[in-house]
Amino acid sequence: MLKGHTALVTGSTQGIGLAIARSFARAGADIVLHGIEPPERGRIVAAELAEASKVRVAYVQANLAEAEPSAALVGEATKALAEPDILVNNAGIQHTASIENFPDEKWDAIIAINLSSAFHTMKAAVPLMRRRGWGRIVNIASVHGLVASVQKAAYLAAKHGLVGMSKGVALETAPDGITVNCICPGWTDTPLIQPQIDARAAALGGDRTAGVRELLREKQPNLMLLPPEHIGDVAVFLCSPAASGITGVALPVDGGWTAQ
Ligand code: NAD
Repeated sequence: MLKGHTALVTGSTQGIGLAIARSFARAGADIVLHGIEPPERGRIVAAELAEASKVRVAYVQANLAEAEPSAALVGEATKALAEPDILVNNAGIQHTASIENFPDEKWDAIIAINLSSAFHTMKAAVPLMRRRGWGRIVNIASVHGLVASVQKAAYLAAKHGLVGMSKGVALETAPDGITVNCICPGWTDTPLIQPQIDARAAALGGDRTAGVRELLREKQPNLMLLPPEHIGDVAVFLCSPAASGITGVALPVDGGWTAQ
């Protein structure tokens, strides 16, 4: 379905990003993986994906906490493999603390990685997509782009910002064959949420299963950690012909979290 296309997925050496890259590869797209790991490590992940899916896969290293590498990423991906006509902004970090205890440097890092990097990559990718008359941008926001929880001031600001920015870019690019959408996952089984599971488990005498159950019972009515592959397949759907009329949406994949 996506043969002939090239997808750049940020933060794609693990977690949701790697699952998204695998889904796009299964759909036939060539893939540019991105991460902060050194090229030797990234190339191993790329080789595994290329072997498993028989598409072309490259790896690009960039620290998206900084503006310059973020702005250069689309160009680097083009050099490494081909001009991306699918861009997935997935890289993100989390830190939880009450507002009065929130470290300034964590605020700066979360805004830079979870929000500003998507500004820089979209700014670079949109002119290329306009020239082609086709482009797909999928931004991985969160339920926390739609609703709030305690102790997540920076993450909430970044993810609400990402949803708002995506809607604006969707409007600017709608006449040009480009769609821009967000996916808003609920609890998904990746390394990102392990510290929050550990904190719950510690409060429950070290029982991890009980910690997961507590987290889910509080917010996620289907009582299941989402498999990252499901987010990957929804991202592919948003790039499919059937979704060409979908732009500017923030799609919850959250087991009912935001229906409450
Ligand atoms: P993860 O920690 O497994 O992956 C995060 C990715 O971001 C990693 O590949 C990491 O290398 C990359 N990254 C971190 N700092 C970076 C930096 N400075 N420069 C470049 N890349 C950097 O977590 P995940 O759960 O797979 O998260 C992926 C996205 O999904 C994030 O945007 C996250 O906010 C979002 N999300 C996750 C959940 C969840 O429950 N896991 C829920 C909603 C949204």
